[in-house]
Amino acid sequence: MNKNAKRTPLRTTAILVVILFIVAVLIYFGGGYHGRGREVSERRTRVMFDTSVQITIEAPKDFDFPATFTKIWEELSVCEAAFDAYDSNSALFKLNNSDSSVVVPERLAKAISAGLAYRDSTTGAFNIKVGELVKLWDFAGDGHVPTETELTDALIGLRSLTAVHGDTVVKYMDRPIIDLGGLGKGFAADAVGAILDSIPQITRYLIDLGGNIRARDKKSKEFRIGVRHPRKPDEIAGSFILPSGCACATAGDYQRYFEVNGVRYHHILDPATGRPARNCSAVTVVASNALAADIYSTALFVLGPDKGMRLIKNRTDLKAAFFDDNGEYIDGNLKIE
Ligand code: ADP
Ligand code: MG
Repeated sequence: MNKNAKRTPLRTTAILVVILFIVAVLIYFGGGYHGRGREVSERRTRVMFDTSVQITIEAPKDFDFPATFTKIWEELSVCEAAFDAYDSNSALFKLNNSDSSVVVPERLAKAISAGLAYRDSTTGAFNIKVGELVKLWDFAGDGHVPTETELTDALIGLRSLTAVHGDTVVKYMDRPIIDLGGLGKGFAADAVGAILDSIPQITRYLIDLGGNIRARDKKSKEFRIGVRHPRKPDEIAGSFILPSGCACATAGDYQRYFEVNGVRYHHILDPATGRPARNCSAVTVVASNALAADIYSTALFVLGPDKGMRLIKNRTDLKAAFFDDNGEYIDGNLKIE
């Protein structure tokens, strides 16, 4: 890398951005979340998954909120620990450092299995084997612009074979390095959603894991969600309707990046080139579950508006909105108002 290159510090998932996003969500939640009639609502926030996690539950006054929140934090902690590729005690770290097959916890096996399946349904745009590339670009550290040789070598990792059989992840060598950053929050939001869906007293909830949102209302009342402007951190680009029981996610080039000589190198990589995808600045996706929303937001970001819209044109379960390099809405079938 050019030694004289001007760097701006790497911004890990900017908590501020998320907080602004949440403020936007709340604005569009109808001036707060006070509950209706005999119901009350409780909201709890924690920093997990390197972002802000906010859970809002509406239920009758005598509902055991503390016990439910305890269950939720436990579930999220288990997911967070299972999907963390950097913690040397995590199952994923151990898998990535093994040169042969490994038995992994159930959630990790499920997440890897889903990740591998979505590679095909996104024409390769989503690929959990990007781990070696993510390490190379050092998005978790100071950032590093790789040489051609480094890129060519890391791209080999994308072609290394792996598969999931039951709770065993099959591996033949030290590659590939699996990275679940593109689906972990969606997976975890669905796991929390399943817990809340199984509790009949709950009348309405909104799960928000750093913009990976899943929400349900017993009376099927919809939710209005704000989208952060990709280029103006304190503004929203608009809002859209999230039907009850659905999920949404946004992938953007502003969440994790570093700059060298005025060029922004962000964390969503095109598996075809190994470099940051350059076809748009953000994509918001509405899907029937949070895992699909998380994955398709990343995949459609990589594909850009033309290829992306072609991929989902026959999908009634997916809606997307694309934003250009100036942060302006360009295309999509998700109505932004
Ligand atoms: P965030 O994690 O900020 O919500 P995304 O959901 O868009 O953002 O996921 C981006 C993360 O996914 C990256 O930080 C990296 O760990 C991983 N990733 C990057 N490119 C890809 C890709 N093409 N396919 C799958 N995962 C990816
Ligand atoms: Mg995401």
